[in-house]
Amino acid sequence: ALSEARAAHSPVRHDLSGPGAREIRRLADELRTAIDEDQLLLAYQPKIHVRRQEINSAEALVRWAHPERGLILPGDFIGAAEDGDVIDLLTLWTIRRAIIDQRSLQAAGHDLRIFINISGQLLADQAFVDAACHLVAEADAKLGFEVTETSVIRDPDSAIANLQRFADIGIIIAIDDYGAGLSSLAYLKQLPARELKIDKLFVTQLTSSNRDPLIVRSTIDLAHALEMEVVAEGVETHSALALLTVMGCDMVQGFLISRPIALEALLTFLEEDRHHHVSQDTRASFTN
Ligand code: C2E
Ligand code: MG
Ligand code: MG
Ligand code: MG
Repeated sequence: ALSEARAAHSPVRHDLSGPGAREIRRLADELRTAIDEDQLLLAYQPKIHVRRQEINSAEALVRWAHPERGLILPGDFIGAAEDGDVIDLLTLWTIRRAIIDQRSLQAAGHDLRIFINISGQLLADQAFVDAACHLVAEADAKLGFEVTETSVIRDPDSAIANLQRFADIGIIIAIDDYGAGLSSLAYLKQLPARELKIDKLFVTQLTSSNRDPLIVRSTIDLAHALEMEVVAEGVETHSALALLTVMGCDMVQGFLISRPIALEALLTFLEEDRHHHVSQDTRASFTN
C-alpha cells in the first residue's frame, strides 16, 4: 500500500494546497524511521567574520538521504515534520549530531560555534526546551539557535521565556530570515538575540536593485543600535561582499564563501583557510 501511495502522487513535492493529512502522517512516519536508521545528514555552511577575517561559526542544515528518492532538501520535509509532530525528534537528533561533529572539529583544532535552526512551534514545546537545554548543558557545547521572528509572534511570552533559557546556558540566539516574515520592532527589542541574519531575499539582488541596498543598510544600522551583530545570508558575488563590507555588515555567509558541505569537506575547507586565512579572492574584496 505504501508503494502504491508513493506511485500515486509525488510524496515530497507539495502542490499549492500543501500535502493532505494522510500524506503528512505518512511522511512523518517515514521521518521517524529515517531518524532511527540514520538517514539524516548535516551539511555545514561556514560564516565569515568580515573584520576579523575568520570563520568562527557554521550553520548546520539538515538533509535526508532517502533510500529510494535520493537526497532531499529541508524545504521538502521540514513542513511535514512540523505538521506531523516529528520536528522535536528531528531537532534533538540535529543537536546531538552537531555536538558530536563539533567535538571532531575541536579535536582538529577548530573551535567553531555551530548554529541550528529551531522551528517556531518548538519554542512553545516545554518538553523539547527541557530536552534541548539538558543536551547542551550536559555536553557543555558551544551552540547557537536560529529562529525566525514570525515564530516568536505566535506565542511571544513563552517564546521569549524559552529563548532566555537557551541564552542563559550560553546558546547564542540569531534571528533568521530577517525582513522576510512578520517583523515587529516591539518583539525584536525584547528578544535575547545577539545576531540578526538579513534574509537572502535582500542580499542576492543587492547590487542589481535600487532599494535593497537601502533596506540592508538601515537593517544593519537598526541591528547595531540594538547591539546585535549582523549576518548577511545569500552572499553570492564579490560585489555584494564589497558593498556589505562598506555598510559595516559583521558576518557573511553564502555560496561565494562556501555552499553547505559535509563535515569532512568543512574540515578540509578550514585547513585551507588556516593556511591562506581567507581565499585570496575573497580577501581582496574585503579590502576593496
Ligand atoms: P535557512 O536557515 O534560512 O538557511 C539558508 C538556506 O539558504 C539554506 O537552504 C542554504 O543552503 C541556502 N543558501 C545558503 N547560501 C546561499 C546563497 O548564497 N544563495 C542562495 N540562493 N541560497 C543560499 P537549505 O539548506 O535548503 O535550507 C532551507 C531551510 O530549511 C533553512 O533556511 C531552514 O529554515 C530550514 N532548515 C534546514 N535545516 C533545518 C533543521 O535542522 N531544522 C529546522 N527546523 N529547519 C531547518
Ligand atoms: Mg512530540
Ligand atoms: Mg538558518
Ligand atoms: Mg535564513
